Amino acid sequence: MHGLMQFQPLLLTGLLEHAAHAFPRVEIVSESSAGRFRYTYAEAAARARRVASSLRSLGLREGDFAGCLAWTTYRHFELMYAVPGVGAALHTVNPRLSHDHIGYSIKHTGERVMFVDPDCIELMEQIAPRTPDATTFVVMCSRSEAPPTRLPNVRFYEDLVDGGDAEFSWPVFDERTASTLCYTSGTTGDPKGVLYSHRGTYLSALAIAASNVWGISRKDAIVVLAPFYHCNAWGATYLGPMAGAKLILPGRAMDGKSLQRLIVEEGATVGPGVPTVWLGVADHCRESGAGLGKLDRIVCGGAAPPLALMRTFWRDHGVRTVQVWGMTETTHAATNLWTDLDVLSGEAEARAPQGQPVFGTRIRVVGDDGKPLPRDGKSIGHLQVQAHWCASGYLKRPDVALCDADGWLKTGDLAVIDTDDSLRLTDRLKDVIKSGGEWVSSVDLENAAIGHAAVAEAAVIGVPHPRWQERPLLFVVKRAGAELSADDLRGYLSGVVAKWWVPEQVVFLDELPHNSTGKVAKEALRELYRSKIAAQAG
Ligand code: ADP
Repeated sequence: MHGLMQFQPLLLTGLLEHAAHAFPRVEIVSESSAGRFRYTYAEAAARARRVASSLRSLGLREGDFAGCLAWTTYRHFELMYAVPGVGAALHTVNPRLSHDHIGYSIKHTGERVMFVDPDCIELMEQIAPRTPDATTFVVMCSRSEAPPTRLPNVRFYEDLVDGGDAEFSWPVFDERTASTLCYTSGTTGDPKGVLYSHRGTYLSALAIAASNVWGISRKDAIVVLAPFYHCNAWGATYLGPMAGAKLILPGRAMDGKSLQRLIVEEGATVGPGVPTVWLGVADHCRESGAGLGKLDRIVCGGAAPPLALMRTFWRDHGVRTVQVWGMTETTHAATNLWTDLDVLSGEAEARAPQGQPVFGTRIRVVGDDGKPLPRDGKSIGHLQVQAHWCASGYLKRPDVALCDADGWLKTGDLAVIDTDDSLRLTDRLKDVIKSGGEWVSSVDLENAAIGHAAVAEAAVIGVPHPRWQERPLLFVVKRAGAELSADDLRGYLSGVVAKWWVPEQVVFLDELPHNSTGKVAKEALRELYRSKIAAQAG
């Protein structure tokens, strides 16, 4: 017997329309080199409806993909609703990927329509010869603002708005319809497409809005430091309209100085971002003495935020860190933790820093044989996850088995789960270091190194060793003006980690290589090791 409850498909346009009706005057602010643009949810929804009603004139139909090569701007935000709103899927292309990877992903979907930020025109011109299916290019500005381009069949975004219908009614369709598409950053092999659905995204947004997770409300102003092409800005795209929180979109500039200014001037209270981005903000504050205004908490993940970074935010600015663990494949955060105050104040170490599953998500660790390991706070195993919003496979890649036979998503992470279901990530499978048969956690070792006051950034890789099979090698970027020798650092480390973890080799670099989503590019460090460090030693 079914209950006697109404049924409406969970469609993302419902979130924007809610904001347009309930929070019509709440602002969306969008930064650009041309100046700061601001408007309201009511205006954003009207423009999204106008664009949606014009999409057919571009030949875009239900079931198609449209690409978007753009920064975090208000027009990009409108497209996050307009394209899925008509039953097509928006492929948010990451402009920081290599040309090969961008070309690959656009070709892989076969999209014909590309929306292109005026700032990304040159990049699109370079990519276009590899993407023969893309035949219509919408430059995301007005005709008069658009830079000259060699791209064929160019249209202008503002013409779609002007020629569109502000009263357009959103079609109603199956909630399982694809909504957006993000490619993983391709740290191993070709990038893989994760195709989100309206239903999964909607449910995940409800789950992460909770006070245990983002704790979002209409009192908040979200500074969106995770780009739309990285897991839909980790849900910020949806949380703002749901809760009536102001949205602050940074555009292209992601340096600490620009972000700190934006945070203070617009009264940001919360924001998602990878550790590297927050590190930039914290460094700028330290160097300039600047504050962070109303910022109350940061939502930090994508890589383990160093303890020292979280402590700096707390001690210097009273800003709490909500650590999230998630992957492109889990839509948004899968676990999270409001880092304890005694950890932030330096009185305790974090026991399980990645926290507990977001409601609706289940986690487990399994051994090499795929059998579940105990939740005992010490058994290290392969982390697996299940949720209403976890990917079941990759777009057009039936050859890759993302899930096991029971439908658990294989994350590629190694972790320990405690009796209360809380999670501690020890490594990514491809980054693990096994020395003399024992695991060295690169995450823990990096965290320990960053705990030294003279260390700005640290990364650890495993390198071959005749006796121990593998040993950790530590790359370090020193803080500006700081004095630090390899021996000083090794001495410090031997006081905070197991003696046999202390790396024999410490290499100082001016900066660490980062990948397109701001994580340390360990593959580039391994290459540096092979081509320079090992070669010189040999
Ligand atoms: P890619 O796999 O291309 O790096 P993702 O953004 O999907 O792109 O990365 C997900 C991975 O990032 C996770 O599998 C995990 O290894 C790492 N990660 C995410 N959040 C955290 C965190 N809080 N602590 C440590 N690692 C994290």
